[in-house]
Amino acid sequence: MFVKGLKCRECGKEYPDSALYVCDYCFGPLEVDYDYDKIKKNISVEKIKSRQPNMWRYKELLPIKGDIEIGKDVGFTPLVKADNLARVLGVKHLYIKNDAVNFPTLSFKDRVVSVAIAKAKEFGFKVIACASTGNLANATAACSAASGFECFVFIPSNLETGKVLGTLIYGTNLVKIEGSYDKVNRLCTEIAGKHNWAFVNINLRPYYAEGSKTLTFEMLEQLGFKAPDNVVVPMAGGSLITKVGKSIEEFEYCGLIEKHNTKIFGAQATGCNPITSTVKEKREFIKPVKTPDTIAKSLAIGNPADGYYAADLMHKSGGFGEDATDDEIVEGMKLLASTEGIFTETAGGVTVAVAKKLIEKGYINKNETTVLAITGNGLKTLESLNGRLDEAPVINPNLEEFEEVLKKVREKEKTNNKTIKK
Ligand SMILES: *Cc1c(COP(=O)(O)O)cnc(C)c1O
Ligand SMILES: [Zn+2]
Repeated sequence: MFVKGLKCRECGKEYPDSALYVCDYCFGPLEVDYDYDKIKKNISVEKIKSRQPNMWRYKELLPIKGDIEIGKDVGFTPLVKADNLARVLGVKHLYIKNDAVNFPTLSFKDRVVSVAIAKAKEFGFKVIACASTGNLANATAACSAASGFECFVFIPSNLETGKVLGTLIYGTNLVKIEGSYDKVNRLCTEIAGKHNWAFVNINLRPYYAEGSKTLTFEMLEQLGFKAPDNVVVPMAGGSLITKVGKSIEEFEYCGLIEKHNTKIFGAQATGCNPITSTVKEKREFIKPVKTPDTIAKSLAIGNPADGYYAADLMHKSGGFGEDATDDEIVEGMKLLASTEGIFTETAGGVTVAVAKKLIEKGYINKNETTVLAITGNGLKTLESLNGRLDEAPVINPNLEEFEEVLKKVREKEKTNNKTIKK
């Protein structure tokens, strides 16, 4: 255990390793503070490689005491070399970090929840809770069930069926709130002040955020302990993207990778783009979006807690921010599925659509190595595709009717080929 405690990101005031998240002196966010010199002496490529293929193989850089008992099998998702998609987008070296198949709830949120709930257990909490746009609800509910905690989950009332049923199935106390995520979050902050519960993304947020580093650690390891030139990351509250930057710095400091200037790009939906609009308009502050309106509900946070730091990171790393409309999001989902056989949720559609724009506009160099963070699974957001894909033909069970269908398929191919040649 190499944790010194918590530290304010703004004024540097130090706090003990405990369920605190905001500085009582300047209201800045608290972060986990490590003894990096000690970590550097204790971590090595060989040590990491000798361990089980899960997120805990980087445990020196995670804030957990003792043995790992919670979320043991989370992480080490595939890094897919996406040559088909690369050809369509016109780039040479493209990879997909595929958290759509993370264990157990098919999104990147299994990582953050494992660390937060392990910490909740260490601190002696009896009840786990969260405010969620969907994936965190699924991950918190599943991990609470598996580790024997009572669980309360709060979501906006308009979430997708897959996210709702995929939470209730674990026997969770699910509460739907009328209004946007920001209203849900405000209520949860009040509840956290009254009840002594472990809200994974509120009072345990410093630990929760550390869990997201493992997505980047894995990506660096899977590239052969090398940093890519570009990373494209979807943003909700902006926590994951800021930890992409921190993870690369930590691996560099520990001597696990060579120093490299990775450009970090953030992706949002046009219907809720408080962070990308800040970058595009070169503003110094975040203008909250009051009423998010997008099919990418998992990213629909109008007032992002880490938005300022996310925008700052994109700027300083030489990256950029871009957003995608609902139609572009669906096209992105279709493109990833039809080229690489990967079915991502709307958030992944945002990432692919934004990467396409960044390449077209020249922000991403065609000869460089780029990784897209695909963070969630398409089976959870099926309704976003209703009426947006070709209908399947329905026929009687006889050969002639099938031959008719086949004729139409071939005709369609011909016209498609003609338009492509043009
Ligand atoms: C939560 C989430 C993210 C990132 O959220 P941040 O709040 O920015 O860390 C990205 N993709 C999906 C699918 C998510 O559920
Ligand atoms: Zn402070």
